[in-house]
Amino acid sequence: MTLAVLCGTLFDSTGADPIRDAVVLVQEGRITAVGPAATTVVPPGAETVDLRDRFVMPGLIDAHSHISIVPGLGDQIGQLRQAAVPQALRATANLRRDLFAGTTTMRVMSEESFLDLDVREAIEGGVIPGPRLLCGARGITASNGHGRAHSAFDGVDEIRRGVRENFQRGADHVKIFMTGGVASAGTTLKACVYTRDEVRAAVEEAERVGKYAAAHAHGGPGLRLSVEEGVSTIEHGALATDEDIALMKERNAWLVCTFSIFLHPNGIEQGDGRNPAIMEKMRWARRVVDENFPRHLATGVRFALGTDAVHGQMPFEMATLVRLGVSPKDALLAATRWSAEACRVQDQIGSLAAGKRADLIAIDGDPLKDIAAMRRVRLVMKDGVIQGRDDHERR
Ligand SMILES: [Zn+2]
Repeated sequence: MTLAVLCGTLFDSTGADPIRDAVVLVQEGRITAVGPAATTVVPPGAETVDLRDRFVMPGLIDAHSHISIVPGLGDQIGQLRQAAVPQALRATANLRRDLFAGTTTMRVMSEESFLDLDVREAIEGGVIPGPRLLCGARGITASNGHGRAHSAFDGVDEIRRGVRENFQRGADHVKIFMTGGVASAGTTLKACVYTRDEVRAAVEEAERVGKYAAAHAHGGPGLRLSVEEGVSTIEHGALATDEDIALMKERNAWLVCTFSIFLHPNGIEQGDGRNPAIMEKMRWARRVVDENFPRHLATGVRFALGTDAVHGQMPFEMATLVRLGVSPKDALLAATRWSAEACRVQDQIGSLAAGKRADLIAIDGDPLKDIAAMRRVRLVMKDGVIQGRDDHERR
């Protein structure tokens, strides 16, 4: 059966200009053709999805999130320490919110208990709705590192074993915590816990099996070691200097921006606003981001976007890029094709073209004129299935 998606305006994220009155043809979850309505032949008997009053674009790719965390509840590390069932229940609600706000793919950047792998299976099996998950399994962090809940890996051998076990269980990438973070009171953003040999081991283990490593790194030596040793994506980078950004450009490392967790009222502030140590770090990070990111984002360094578990807030991420001086077109690309490239899945998703998976969203309004329109997602299609409509029939 063929689906013919009729689009008022189509932004395909290939780099082409938007097309007025376009058609996307879908068969068995994949796009078979994209083009102007006037010249694209719709096969007889095709089912029509009428989005002629909508702006249609690829589904959003949240390049950095956690399925089980709700920052607004506070004590994120404590949430990760809970038993798997309460975490899975939160994840179920979180992923529904993400999906219906337009996120069709999410890169998961550490969970305990291999929770993300089980939840991925539940989504793929049609048990719960949710974005397609790219899983990091357990985060690689040191005993005294940020992000440590239960698992910890110290020394080259433990890191090799941890990474190999993650891959054996089905992980897609490695997440290593190189510096402190905002949401843990005892770490500082520039303190680096791992050595050069340790981060190199994580990168080597990933690359040997055709995968890559992502590093949580705000700045300082942890960020530089990561880039020098071949980490592919730098997460957060809140305190990156001009020299750090220049090195990232030279080594083709991605900057994965995570604005919501620092800036959105539902982020850390809602949950940990009464903890002075956390709030002081956050106010500092906010100032630095507002001062430095307009400059960093204009350097040509490649960037992508992630909500860092502020669920449903990819539109806020995109609006923040625009506030920091990025064009609306580039904000749309950052949330789709560029995030796909950062996550190394651009041959499957991130743009609307023949052969790609049929992940698309329909917006009420024109986000190229007013980025706030991204809040008005009216339809979400993943793998050619309209989400929410036929969740039951699918099974
Ligand atoms: Zn994170």
